[in-house]
Amino acid sequence: SDNLIEIKGLKKYFPIKEGLFKTNNVKAVDDVSLFIKKGETLGLVGESGCGKTTFGRTILRLHEPTEGQIIYDGKDITKEDMLPYRRKMQIIFQDPYASLDPRMTVGDIVGEPLDIHKMYKTKEERKEKIYKLLETVGLNAEHANRFAHEFSGGQRQRIGIARALAVEPEFIVCDEPVSALDVSIQAQVVNMLEDLQAEKGFTYLFIAHDLSIVKHISNRIGVMYLGHLVELTTSQELYKNPLHPYTKTLLSAIPVADPKTSRSRERIVLNGDIPSPLNPPSGCTFRTRCPYATDICAKEKPIFREYGTEHYVACHNLENINN
Ligand code: SF4
Repeated sequence: SDNLIEIKGLKKYFPIKEGLFKTNNVKAVDDVSLFIKKGETLGLVGESGCGKTTFGRTILRLHEPTEGQIIYDGKDITKEDMLPYRRKMQIIFQDPYASLDPRMTVGDIVGEPLDIHKMYKTKEERKEKIYKLLETVGLNAEHANRFAHEFSGGQRQRIGIARALAVEPEFIVCDEPVSALDVSIQAQVVNMLEDLQAEKGFTYLFIAHDLSIVKHISNRIGVMYLGHLVELTTSQELYKNPLHPYTKTLLSAIPVADPKTSRSRERIVLNGDIPSPLNPPSGCTFRTRCPYATDICAKEKPIFREYGTEHYVACHNLENINN
């Protein structure tokens, strides 16, 4: 199959106690299905709290799924021992400050996965591998003996990327890898990830809260809202022809590069905040903020359906909204 990853009906609930006797669930990811083709980048966007980070971690089994299936290269790994898959599936974390151990040298941070997976025979070979990895991400051998706190945010993220690359993975979850970095550094890191992909054939799940960051790097983009996938299509189609009201809102927040040539977009501002995933609204979870909500939206959960080729949307009122 062309798909490296297939996710079927994935749910991740976090139980929390409410008072003495009652437990409720935070429905962080609530019934998400999608696939990621070999060698592509699937962008995943949404506000903080929409479940995108939990989704990325759950497909790596850093969280155990509450329900659903994770299929990797044709094999159901939902209940498998993950150690062999840790080599194939890696993650780059959002915060390069929090994710690197300050007591370890850069060489040991990058070398640790090599140790875990026994990827060298001699100390010399280990050292060579570490140097090569540092060079791959634009650092150099001399950096190996220094500590992570001696580096800037952008350099730290490069160290985090070198660590992810150490095991020669096939699939990498990039969990908002540039959100904590200065805007001037963001493009450098994204370009590097893109070059690495072209060279090594990686498959990426690229998580971001902002559509402008995923636009160039993604082949397809999924939009999440309150634990659900509300729209998924190719990057081009999403920008040209967004169908879901929430996607339209996200796109309207991006400044248009050249207002003369581009179709101008009116900025849409939503009412209120994203509701709590503890007590999500009935029916369509977006209805409390949707300008197009009608009676049916409170009663029935909209089905994620295909409209046109490779364009999936979950909304009851598409025909009215987009005509
Ligand atoms: Fe808005 Fe209803 Fe569509 Fe949900 S289903 S996005 S509330 S119109």
